[in-house]
Amino acid sequence: MTQIKPGGKIGILGGGQLGRMLAMAAARLGYRCHIFCPDVRSPAFHVACDFTIAEYENEDALKEFASSVDVATYEFENVPARTAEIVSKETLLRPGARALEVSQDRLTEKKFLNECGVKTAPFKAFQTQEELDEAYKEIGRPSVAKTRRFGYDGKGQLMIKARKDVDDVMGVTKGTAAILEGFVTFDREISVVVARSASGDVAAFPVAENVHTNHILDTSTVPAQISEVVEAKAKVMATRIANALEYIGVMTVEMFVNDGTGEIVVNEIAPRVHNSGHWTIEGAATSQFEQHIRAICDLPLGGTDARGKVRMKNLLGKDILDFEQYLTDPKAHFHHYGKLEPREGRKMGHVTWVEDAD
Ligand code: AMP
Repeated sequence: MTQIKPGGKIGILGGGQLGRMLAMAAARLGYRCHIFCPDVRSPAFHVACDFTIAEYENEDALKEFASSVDVATYEFENVPARTAEIVSKETLLRPGARALEVSQDRLTEKKFLNECGVKTAPFKAFQTQEELDEAYKEIGRPSVAKTRRFGYDGKGQLMIKARKDVDDVMGVTKGTAAILEGFVTFDREISVVVARSASGDVAAFPVAENVHTNHILDTSTVPAQISEVVEAKAKVMATRIANALEYIGVMTVEMFVNDGTGEIVVNEIAPRVHNSGHWTIEGAATSQFEQHIRAICDLPLGGTDARGKVRMKNLLGKDILDFEQYLTDPKAHFHHYGKLEPREGRKMGHVTWVEDAD
């Protein structure tokens, strides 16, 4: 496997806060970063030595970007397949195109997860009203209709609690390919951030417990309030998924847990560093961002142990204006993503508290 030594250059597709924190971790290890993003105001540009402002369909710009780096990676899963193809012809693309293909389409993703022997919510694909009626007959309610592609933070989703809700589904999916998913009753949501290096070494971080508000992550806490057995089972599942994809880099697996039965249902996978892994920056031996850089450069993976009890809180929209409250809290680690406009629901920063276990 090709190792990229410190001093090399890493290309990152996407210029948001994840790209920014990846570039900061890369710099610490002695790498330089080149960020590719269409948005001139990308927060990752502030912390990288090179940047390209161009559309993901711009072949010439992509080729130039890819040929300037030793390895390329991405910070979001909706990288178009054609973009991945162009980049991977010029340089190493890690993780590869397969991870994108699986995670971009909820139907492909669920089928793949089931093939890995991992349980998901029951599901049925539909596109037309007739197919929806068929799917509803099979899945019933409560259930959730979701577009197969481009859904995030609850967008393109509709919960079906009563028969009449079915009438509103086509208004949300708008005739695009979708799935109807059975609603899973769970006690908590957890995620496993797992790294697999180019040499095939795997290391999972402790499981984080996540609380969402209005479909957006609010807090992640470690350790999760789950048994050792469930913790171990969750990590085994994430490892199995990473191995099946021959994955290179950090990926995140979101899961639902039933406390009574200990059953775990996988909701989705993200082929990237993840908001629910931000706690690792101060809370773990190695951050998820550094771990991703290590994995794609084929360096030894870092330790994953938590440094104590950790809590990460997202700062959305105007929450960021209260920054002094965190700066004057001696236990708080405050992160500002450098975005100027605090629009409602926008991820502007986060805070992490680490309480020493000893
Ligand atoms: P998703 O866009 O698939 O990540 O879903 C966003 C959130 O909606 C999840 O984090 C859950 O809180 C909830 N959710 C999604 N799908 C289901 C399901 N099948 N059963 C129960 N809750 C769900």
